[in-house]
Amino acid sequence: MYGKMKEHLQKELADIKEAGLYKDERVIVTPQRAEIELESGQKVLNFCANNYLGLADHPELIKAAKEGLDTRGFGMSSVRFICGTQDLHKKLEKKIAEFFGTEDAILYAANFDSNGGLFEPLLTDQDAIISDSLNHASIIDGVRLCKARRFRYKTADMEDLEEKLKEAQDARFRVIASDAVFSMDGHTPRVDKMIELGEKYDALVMLDEAHSAGVVGETGRGVTELYNVRGKVDLITGTLGKSFGGAIGGFTTGHKEIIELLRQRSRPYLFSNSLPPAVVNAGIRMFDMMAETTELQDKLHSNKDYFIGEMKKIGFDIKPTDSAICAVMLYDAKKAQDFAARLLDEGIYVIGFSYPVVPKGQARVRVQISARHEQEHLDTALKAFKKIGKEMGMV
Ligand SMILES: *Cc1c(COP(=O)(O)O)cnc(C)c1O
Repeated sequence: MYGKMKEHLQKELADIKEAGLYKDERVIVTPQRAEIELESGQKVLNFCANNYLGLADHPELIKAAKEGLDTRGFGMSSVRFICGTQDLHKKLEKKIAEFFGTEDAILYAANFDSNGGLFEPLLTDQDAIISDSLNHASIIDGVRLCKARRFRYKTADMEDLEEKLKEAQDARFRVIASDAVFSMDGHTPRVDKMIELGEKYDALVMLDEAHSAGVVGETGRGVTELYNVRGKVDLITGTLGKSFGGAIGGFTTGHKEIIELLRQRSRPYLFSNSLPPAVVNAGIRMFDMMAETTELQDKLHSNKDYFIGEMKKIGFDIKPTDSAICAVMLYDAKKAQDFAARLLDEGIYVIGFSYPVVPKGQARVRVQISARHEQEHLDTALKAFKKIGKEMGMV
């Protein structure tokens, strides 16, 4: 029976390649870190991981993961509410809430799930979600799974958000939903303004801190620290898969009644397996490290300021950013691919992004800075950027 579908899929795949949208996976044979080796044997400097704090191969976390394995086993073989909750899970949830200054937190297998299972338990067709037009796919899917009326506002545009809030005034409850850092640009929405509007138009605020937690704000507490509104955002979701160690896991944190209801009704929580003890124990250690020192944030922030400052001096067109993401604008899709390929030849691993990941005519190369980058890594990258930028007539 597969024959007809096979033909159809072969054509579909050929079309994807034809359009230049096919995603090849580059195979790495080392741990995730600043200097990595590819399967081809090529050694490159890594500027495209979400490993902002450089924790993905941190010895303390590897040690904590091993302790988790040794003391609590390999897997849970259960969802949380049947027999999949260990003391470690409760402890990690408490640490997450402490980190964000919230009342309680709930763990998921991934942030894709925390977003996917967030709206449906809380909202019905009497309610409204006002969603940023640039939101991550997982927020969009979460909104789709819920019966609330949908309003989309122009990205980070607080005037348009206000308009949509006015239109949604007849709803029972309103939730404003947004990425806390937009991952293709690196900027944040005006969170202080969102909270003001939430108060004025009686709406809750939900933020996804995937690219901001651990990174943004002086001590890395995220956008609520950056905008000085700690404890004022109703719903925060995030991942353990980026700055927080890079393994796997997601969470939602906020008001205790909301978290309590999610434990009763959120489908990815109820019907999907518990996080393994190794990951949970490493997560606990990671939040302890965050509480002990801001060394990693200090290093990341100084790396980022240095790199972006130098890129601007060289003459590159850089998108305004509040995070460790630096978008180098080329506008043309082909040029962005070329630029990334030629940088790889120089040993600098970055990725070019074009439509449909970013709007048409907005192609770019995205650079992600890490606390694991040393001065020499940054200088090597800057030299390569300058060389290729000159060759391509960009600077
Ligand atoms: C990466 C990302 C996610 C998904 O996180 P996972 O834990 O990998 O599922 C969700 N939201 C945003 C904004 C992200 O950038």
